[in-house]
Amino acid sequence: MTNPVILTGLRANNDLQIGNYFGAMLPIIDMAKSRSHDYQVNMFIPDLHSFTTPIDHSELQAQILHNARLYAAAGLPLDDDNIHLYRQSYVPAHSELTWILDCFTGFGEMSRMTQFKDKSGKLGDSQISVGLFNYPVLMAADILLYDAKYVPVGDDQTQHLEFARDIAERMNNRFGELFVVPEPVKAQHEFFGKEQGLRIMDLVNPTKKMSKSDETGKGVIFLGDEPATAAKKIMSATTDDKASVNYNPAEQPGISNLLDILALLRGKPVAEVASQYAGMDRYGDFKKIVADEMQKFLIDLQKSYDTYDSATIVAKLEASERAMNEQAGATLLRVQRAVGLRPPKEYDEI
Ligand code: ATP
Ligand code: MG
Repeated sequence: MTNPVILTGLRANNDLQIGNYFGAMLPIIDMAKSRSHDYQVNMFIPDLHSFTTPIDHSELQAQILHNARLYAAAGLPLDDDNIHLYRQSYVPAHSELTWILDCFTGFGEMSRMTQFKDKSGKLGDSQISVGLFNYPVLMAADILLYDAKYVPVGDDQTQHLEFARDIAERMNNRFGELFVVPEPVKAQHEFFGKEQGLRIMDLVNPTKKMSKSDETGKGVIFLGDEPATAAKKIMSATTDDKASVNYNPAEQPGISNLLDILALLRGKPVAEVASQYAGMDRYGDFKKIVADEMQKFLIDLQKSYDTYDSATIVAKLEASERAMNEQAGATLLRVQRAVGLRPPKEYDEI
């Protein structure tokens, strides 16, 4: 019996920011390390997802390797055979299954996806691609190809996970048992158990989430930022005129965000850090503490990053991709047979 599969990916459309690191990467790595005895852990770089919105394609190749290397730098064990790290486009079954699933997906069903409405609302007409429209189908393929049961999802992806379940059930009803249906969102939350609510805010506009595709990047700390540049971003973070450090995200979003960041950097509960600095009236001094801590964090992470050469990373990717092509290929063949693209199984046996 094979182990149940946990699957997760982090889009490589830009350098990752500290929100991605603390909100996604670290918890994923912790989870992979603690679960890999009983589960197969699939961590993939969704390179095909990276240009559903426009990107600079001359950067993509380097970005993909950079992200893989960041996983290693952040502590992902490369020598664990139950943890797979692979590039989506190196397993062509993702694209092939997407096309098949596309033809069983309703236009209306995709049109209701709130992520599409949000993201397309920010783009000009000529920039809204069909890829952006149907990326939930690619995401369903990412999951279903490996019979994945557990997929950690943030709030913005829950509708897409529900779609993956719907399309799996629809195909199963029509063609027999083709897919393992991933667990529903509630069960996902129970399984991963982590508080899903972490939101680091943009430093310039602390009522907005920090996000790697932000246009200016001024309020965003990227993992590849020069430590001194990151420190400067902290020093010029937007605060308020209350002149008193307090954890109160509604009234003092900027200061509260800096407290959240400091707590994460120190690996301490925010309440503890907040009480340590409560009432401090010189924001400049407080920012300096956060800036120094941030600088230390980036120096360490980047040092760790430099200890991995690309050859080591590529070797891990290629080994995982061989294994994944086998698994995904078997699922794809099951589907191709079911829809009539390949002869049914009995023919082989004649
Ligand atoms: P984009 O601008 O391309 O949407 P993003 O920075 O919002 O990029 P996503 O690719 O949407 O990142 O999300 C990747 C993961 O990082 C998700 O699990 C998401 O919950 C987490 N994440 C993103 N931003 C933050 C943040 N500011 N604080 C905490 N977690 C975050
Ligand atoms: Mg996002």
